[in-house]
Amino acid sequence: MSAFDVVVVGGGIAGASAAAVLSETRRVVLLEREGHPGYHTSGRSAALFSETYGNATVRGLSVGSRAFLQSPPAGFAEHPILSPRGGLFVGRAAHLAEIAKRAAEGVALVPSVRAIDGAEARRLVPILRPDVVAGGILEPDAMDIDTHGLLQGFLKVVRANGGRVVTDAEVTALNRGLGGWTVATPAGSFAAPVVVNAAGAWADVLARMAGAAPVGLVPKRRTAFMVEPPAGLDIRDWPITGTVEENFYFKPDAGMLLCSPEDETPSEPCDAQPEEIDIAIAVDRIQATADLPVRRIGRKWAGLRSFVADKTPVVGFDPKVDGFFWLAGQGGYGFQTAPGMATTAAALATGRPLPPGLAALGVTEAALSPARFAA
Ligand SMILES: Cc1cc2nc3c(=O)[nH]c(=O)nc-3n(C[C@H](O)[C@H](O)[C@H](O)COP(=O)(O)OP(=O)(O)OC[C@H]3O[C@@H](n4cnc5c(N)ncnc54)[C@H](O)[C@@H]3O)c2cc1C
Repeated sequence: MSAFDVVVVGGGIAGASAAAVLSETRRVVLLEREGHPGYHTSGRSAALFSETYGNATVRGLSVGSRAFLQSPPAGFAEHPILSPRGGLFVGRAAHLAEIAKRAAEGVALVPSVRAIDGAEARRLVPILRPDVVAGGILEPDAMDIDTHGLLQGFLKVVRANGGRVVTDAEVTALNRGLGGWTVATPAGSFAAPVVVNAAGAWADVLARMAGAAPVGLVPKRRTAFMVEPPAGLDIRDWPITGTVEENFYFKPDAGMLLCSPEDETPSEPCDAQPEEIDIAIAVDRIQATADLPVRRIGRKWAGLRSFVADKTPVVGFDPKVDGFFWLAGQGGYGFQTAPGMATTAAALATGRPLPPGLAALGVTEAALSPARFAA
């Protein structure tokens, strides 16, 4: 039996980032069921940083994460974590009022956000159909995230601080005794007074194992695939382009266009796979708005974005089960909020208040607390 201060369960971006911050002051072990960290949702994202995406708490966590993502500590990563991309969310004439309203909301947190007309949208993304696209919201400072670099950077920090990362270590039992938790895995048993539940789509499964009430997490499948860009156009500087209805997006990615129907199909926690019908729906929706011939579908995949009912992450100690700490419900924002979520989780798990920078951005302990489900 190996003894630690904190056992973190789940080697996705949530577990890795929290383990990194906790390892600065605590003896930490990170347990991952699969053969390598990031196998599930964290290996399948669209890698966007958008400060206008999600509800007010998510936006606060994203804005509060920018400084770390833009300037991580020396030696954290070999390449910049963020690179310029921009975001454009278009609509038809019927959506212009909605576009104006959302642009006004966006500008309150991110001053560079603005509403643009159809002609400007087409200057940025020339394949947008003039008879369809009447305007859009432009977020010029939306960024691409090097998700692999970010995950590996956090894992490197854990190891550099003397923490352990153990793979092929599925947690199969969690028992609480007088001295704290005993955590059983095929890779050995681990003891600690605190367990952090960063099990992604399996967070409610892990909670039940610990005797805690589930928070009603729903894993939702999202599909993504690659297509060739239109011939003769330089797509490199195109922003990620979607609609205000959130029914598709496409985004330049290593010379191809990464596309998604923005599906949210409820699923059991599993190794999610793409369905042909969702790819066909995405192509259909994209072609109704943009002139994008699709001759062949390249790589395709799907991942689970896990949400609770209010779409706000769940961060904090379980109100009933001692030493069981939640870090779940990252939804579609797990990468862009990771630094903020990790510092929040580390503060709350070690009995400190929310980081002041995040509190100033409107993030509250109550909004994140798992106690909101017990009420
Ligand atoms: C198509 C798609 C596009 C996305 N685009 C973006 C984007 O542009 N920007 C953004 O910020 N986010 C995006 N996301 C969301 C983001 O990827 C997730 O929010 C994030 O990866 C969730 O991280 P996680 O660590 O909570 O979960 P995961 O990465 O799933 O990690 C959880 C880990 O826990 C492990 N685990 C579970 N149970 C156990 C157990 N009993 N014992 C040991 N280990 C266990 C699992 O094996 C898994 O590796 C996207 C997601 C998808 C699918």
